[in-house]
Amino acid sequence: MGQMNPFASEHDMFRKTVKDFVEREIHPNAEDWEEIGEVPREVFLKLGELGILGARYDKKYGGSSLDFWYTLILCEEFAKSTYMGAAVSILMQCEMCTAAIHDEGSEELKQQYLVPAVKGELLGCLGVSEPSAGSDVGAIRTTARREGDSFIINGSKTFITNGSIADYVLLAVRTGSQGTGGVSLIIVPTSTPGFSVGRKLKKMGVHCSATAELAFEDCVVPASNIIGEENAGFKYIMHHFQGERIVLCGFALGAMEALMEEAVAYGKDREIFGRPIVEYQIWRHRLADLYTHIMAARQLTYLAVDAANSGIRAEKEISMAKLFTASLVKEVATEVLQMHGGYGYMEEYPVCRIYRDVAAFTIGGGTNEVMREIIAKQSGL
Ligand SMILES: Cc1cc2nc3c(=O)[nH]c(=O)nc-3n(C[C@H](O)[C@H](O)[C@H](O)COP(=O)(O)OP(=O)(O)OC[C@H]3O[C@@H](n4cnc5c(N)ncnc54)[C@H](O)[C@@H]3O)c2cc1C
Repeated sequence: MGQMNPFASEHDMFRKTVKDFVEREIHPNAEDWEEIGEVPREVFLKLGELGILGARYDKKYGGSSLDFWYTLILCEEFAKSTYMGAAVSILMQCEMCTAAIHDEGSEELKQQYLVPAVKGELLGCLGVSEPSAGSDVGAIRTTARREGDSFIINGSKTFITNGSIADYVLLAVRTGSQGTGGVSLIIVPTSTPGFSVGRKLKKMGVHCSATAELAFEDCVVPASNIIGEENAGFKYIMHHFQGERIVLCGFALGAMEALMEEAVAYGKDREIFGRPIVEYQIWRHRLADLYTHIMAARQLTYLAVDAANSGIRAEKEISMAKLFTASLVKEVATEVLQMHGGYGYMEEYPVCRIYRDVAAFTIGGGTNEVMREIIAKQSGL
């Protein structure tokens, strides 16, 4: 497993399509999206037309039946835009709120939700975290009570990416006993009476991804909206966290590439005491160390993607890749900001925004501590 360069010419063509989209649609507009706090709907429609939202999904549902290398390319290129909020919001739609419908949803749910989601016509979000349950998914309190052919849902969710712009929530609910064995995944359309969006949360970074609190008060949804088997939701959530963790690795790799480009350009241009910054050995060596660590992060990520593609159970390797890349990107951002001196602290330099944006990477998709627990457990500790 693991290769120096796993990309062939068809990957390069796909990368070019994404790069062009970033140049055309994200770069000129993302500052406005940061201001309004969301990625506008028409952006998803344009992504849908290009086939980007369904890259990984079956052609039967409007996708392209491509493997995880393509998802990695998406993550890297959107992150290289330097607007992590846009990357997060888009990958929520391509991966996080659709993968379980594709893999475990009924044919009816796929037609009703996945097909329009892949076109960018229907936006989704993933509702797992609650005010009193984040890392401990088995502790969620939102309930879904069966009544005839329906479920009646009550509870609340927080930190939900795209929560205020979504048409449906892929929602984690308690349908059974306490703990992980009583959790199910169910689709709740946001037009359901009793559903409401609470506060739009003000965040440190990723400003153009909308993040909201959601409330459910006696929301009645058809029992057929359950994904897969009732009370098997925890298993599905953990399975799809693997994809989400690879997504975060891709974001981190893209962000690190953008940061290093900024560092080299700035370091060659800015003179201090008569010489460009990059001519000072301390900075040359610091950057050399970062290049080395980034290469290690890339190879760990490739190992994780290889495993995901071949269906090998690789929770440990994926957790290692997520822990390593998410920690490293924060270190790279810190060093590159420092190299910029006071300018790095100013909003007009991308490093300032990236520094804030990547702070969430060691938290979202499973925190560093959760990654370490998985690695320790799977190492027999
Ligand atoms: C920008 C952003 C977007 C998000 N988007 C979504 C979304 O779309 N949908 C969604 O459902 N959630 C989302 N989240 C929530 C995210 O998944 C949670 O924040 C994360 O899972 C951690 O949960 P928590 O914040 O409740 O922290 P807690 O679980 O309360 O953890 C607090 C601290 O305890 C540590 N800890 C946890 N377990 C252990 C342990 N076993 N041993 C030692 N320490 C431990 C944690 O690492 C952390 O440092 C988002 C979060 C952010 C910041």
